[in-house]
Amino acid sequence: MDSERASALPPHVLIFPLPIQGPVKCMLKLAELFCINGLKVTFLNSQHIQRCLSSCTNTESYFQRYPNFRFETVPDGLPEDNPRTVNEFFEMLDSMKAVGVPLFREMVTSGPYGPNSENPITCIVADGAFCFAVDIAKQIGVPLLYFDTMSPCCVWTYLCLPKLIEAGEVPFKGDNLDEIVVNAPGKEGFLRRRDLPGFYRTKDLNDPNIQSVLKENRNLPLSQGLILNTFEELDASILSEMSKVCPKIYAVGPLHTHVKTRLRTGTTSNSILKEDRSCIPWLDMQPLKSVLFVSIGSLAVMTKEQLMEIWYGLVNSGTRFLWVRRPGSVVGLDKEFEISMDFSQATKERGYIVSWAPQEEVLAHPAIGGFLTHSGWNSTLESIVEGKPMICWPYYVDQQVNSRYVGEFWKLGLDMKDICDRVKVEGMIKELMELKKDEFCRRANHLANIAKASVHEGGSSYKNLDQLIQDIKSMTF
Ligand code: UDP
Repeated sequence: MDSERASALPPHVLIFPLPIQGPVKCMLKLAELFCINGLKVTFLNSQHIQRCLSSCTNTESYFQRYPNFRFETVPDGLPEDNPRTVNEFFEMLDSMKAVGVPLFREMVTSGPYGPNSENPITCIVADGAFCFAVDIAKQIGVPLLYFDTMSPCCVWTYLCLPKLIEAGEVPFKGDNLDEIVVNAPGKEGFLRRRDLPGFYRTKDLNDPNIQSVLKENRNLPLSQGLILNTFEELDASILSEMSKVCPKIYAVGPLHTHVKTRLRTGTTSNSILKEDRSCIPWLDMQPLKSVLFVSIGSLAVMTKEQLMEIWYGLVNSGTRFLWVRRPGSVVGLDKEFEISMDFSQATKERGYIVSWAPQEEVLAHPAIGGFLTHSGWNSTLESIVEGKPMICWPYYVDQQVNSRYVGEFWKLGLDMKDICDRVKVEGMIKELMELKKDEFCRRANHLANIAKASVHEGGSSYKNLDQLIQDIKSMTF
């Protein structure tokens, strides 16, 4: 597209998230912020995600609120009954690349959003894992911004990977996972091998996860900028390290709070699973800060044995709890144990179990005193904003890094990484909910206030979003 035509067009951003709950949710928040600020947005979902979203949330509300917003879809190439679990992530990505991406390319080159159409795209925002976006943006002559929806501390460990390999730190030599890593994350020096993304434990550099990170690293400088769901005050040192090797960085989070603040009302939940809201009236009846919220997000799974260790640790702690038992999240769960959880004395007296919760609202509830989490980045940010201390039991990708930051750097909770033992679980719950409750709550409240201030007028994320929007309006390729 020539620059004269580009600058005459109204800004029209195409947003393309990875087709999983976390990235879809936070990119939808970004889309709302763009629309509030006068940009036109086309949100490209896989057909599967769009079906889930439409059946679980009020997608009409987007069109009512934002006349300049529209959804588009491409198939992900998988049969509808494919479970699309985390273990088949590369199958899904490969299938998406083979089936959905050519359609996306056609859409923005010769199709309804092509340079010569009535409705041309003027900027692409794509998930950091979508390396193909560089070529497509180049072909149509529009700027590309990557959005890494995982934590910046993990993105930084990704960017350090070539150095780690060169220095012989990855693959790990020997089995000691407690050895301190020298070449990441920079100054702090508190990351152990076990705190790096789980797949860094591989002995094989041809591992698809490793190869995919190296490719993402090579692609990042070819984009015009990197959007991150964080606020400067939380990740100052990491952002400063990253800015030496990245294109322009825009820290505009926490996005869910940012949208609420700018709209001054609640937002659409963006959930692709049906929320069970009956837990809210139950929470209303519980004492202040007395309930531990237990959830491992939309993708993580645990074995039946791990479930039992966490369950008995929780029950033995005597704490009130709200437990999210997502269907399919326990491998080999037998009906008998499920029923014994549902009808146990502990659940009757002090617990509540749902299959999926309105998590943002739950974490904001005054009865919640702590969060036993898999340390997904959205969950971590949602907990930080609400000032809720965490017990971290990470599962994969950025979660191992996040949990170390929660425990050791931000000191907002306890990192249970790599351990799943009922005595340990019970001990940590008592430490978080009783013994060190005041200490953790004090720190969590302090950081929550900083997080909220960052998205108010004059705050760091508020200013960064304004800058991002200005840049999108003025950017030409
Ligand atoms: N979530 C929810 N209800 C639940 C559990 C999770 O709405 O019962 C939402 C949560 O608010 C978060 C997202 O699902 O925004 C999970 O994202 P995260 O990055 O924490 O983990 P992932 O699911 O990607 O592993």
